[in-house]
Amino acid sequence: MGTSDTPTVGIVGAGAMGRGIAQVAATGGCKVLLHDARSDATDEALTFIGGMVDRAAEKERMTVEAAEEAKRLLTKAEGIDAFAECDVVIEAVSEDMGLKAKVFAALEAATDEACILASNTSSLSITRLAAACSHPERVAGFHFFNPVPLMPLVEVIAGVRTEPSVIDRLVELGKVMGRTPVRVADAPGFLVNQVGRGYTLEATNLVAEGVAAFVDVDRIMRDAAGFRMGPFELLDLTALDVTHPASIEIYEQSYHEPRFRPAMLMGQRMQAGLLGRKTKQGHYAYVDGKQQRPEEPEAPGFEGGTFWVEPGEDAAALQEIVRASGAELDEGERPAGDSIILIAPLGLDASTHAARAGQDPERTVAVDPLFGFKGRRTVMQTIVTRPEVMRKAHAMLAQDGMPVTPIKDSPGFVAQRIIAMISAIGASVAQNAIATPEDIDRAVKLGLNYPNGPLEFADTLGPARIVQILEGMSDCTGDPRYRTGPWLRRRAALGVSATTVEPAPRA
Ligand code: NAD
Repeated sequence: MGTSDTPTVGIVGAGAMGRGIAQVAATGGCKVLLHDARSDATDEALTFIGGMVDRAAEKERMTVEAAEEAKRLLTKAEGIDAFAECDVVIEAVSEDMGLKAKVFAALEAATDEACILASNTSSLSITRLAAACSHPERVAGFHFFNPVPLMPLVEVIAGVRTEPSVIDRLVELGKVMGRTPVRVADAPGFLVNQVGRGYTLEATNLVAEGVAAFVDVDRIMRDAAGFRMGPFELLDLTALDVTHPASIEIYEQSYHEPRFRPAMLMGQRMQAGLLGRKTKQGHYAYVDGKQQRPEEPEAPGFEGGTFWVEPGEDAAALQEIVRASGAELDEGERPAGDSIILIAPLGLDASTHAARAGQDPERTVAVDPLFGFKGRRTVMQTIVTRPEVMRKAHAMLAQDGMPVTPIKDSPGFVAQRIIAMISAIGASVAQNAIATPEDIDRAVKLGLNYPNGPLEFADTLGPARIVQILEGMSDCTGDPRYRTGPWLRRRAALGVSATTVEPAPRA
């Protein structure tokens, strides 16, 4: 056995994840036994890790002595029996419940009862996995992210019968391995993969509804909302044959929670073999590993025009954009007969907004106000906006060099819909006590590289605005996927932070 600070760690499965976990365990000072059903897979993994730590030493990210020590701590285990000396075993075999259950049965037979058995599964139920074991209290999830050495997050997942001390010990081990551990209760997709559905499913739904093309959704989410990768670039990286089955698993485990309803379009593209980078064709084509990003069409030439801005919270900023463009600003109380009408709705589609406000829908154009018209502007038509009205509005909005993306009518444009879904799912994670608000934001930023956590997004943009967007989406579509839920509704009503935690009722 290792010391309490540096336990002896067994790892089953030496694939992409197992080798990464082995590397960070060894560089953290743990003795590591690595086993794979394919003996040569273990050899390859050990050579790979050796190369990684040597390179880290060359680049002076670790000392030569530390690299040598990490290599010395790594050993090949021919069989699971070798794990008898382990304090913790981490299972990282393929994502298959039957296979994992067999591995856990073998691990139970091979290890001491005090040994923790942890799974790196991304989407299978920890409670179900534990239920197949004779000691479910020592089974937990220990969910790392790919590539492990570069992704600092690890979710430590308690099944229904997991002993709290097992979670405490895994949290400590996560720290020893140089990770940031977050405590998560067992739930479909745990914390991070649950919230991640908001990004990719809502984006795919938008494309399926014909609102915008893949590439336009990516541009908006990168430039306006500040995401490092657009949802479709991300899907191409993770591959649809991983993401879509995980979505189905999360949907089934949640007894068909509408927020997790898989996207039909994603299933079809998976069946068509458009998996992403690994098949050289996903939402983008890949040539020599390089994404072929279509060139952005130029904005139409500026034709001037007269623009009237509907009064509201964002009117002054839009008026300023009109003035600065050189177009004429109609400052009348009502739009003059030939003025183009600019609206900035939250959660409503342009057609419904124009109808409710009594504006001429053929002259109405909506601009997304969510990110202050910065980074990239999304301009949306009603279903009857005249093409020349869209063209003039597009040109006017592009006069200061800001990229502009025209889209079809949608309740909540593109960014509003996606951000609202991320916040809504994050809020339901908090409501269901799957993790603390602080950990939800921290984990999503570290595990998914989002610019903000889901509750932080709600706070930055205003919980009341997120609720308004969700209510508008829900109203327009009638789809329960967009319902608000009590967490955000109450915090918006009271005007408090989306991270506000209700105290225990019994003092
Ligand atoms: P992988 O296919 O790269 O590696 C799986 C390894 O398990 C293979 O080397 C295989 O030979 C080995 N294996 C299969 N059956 C075995 C058995 N009975 N005994 C010992 N070894 C066996 O898969 P991966 O991407 O490393 O994923 C492993 C686990 O980690 C899965 O549960 C996956 O869902 C999860 N995960 C993956 C990622 C990711 O991005 N790849 C991220 C987080 C979690």
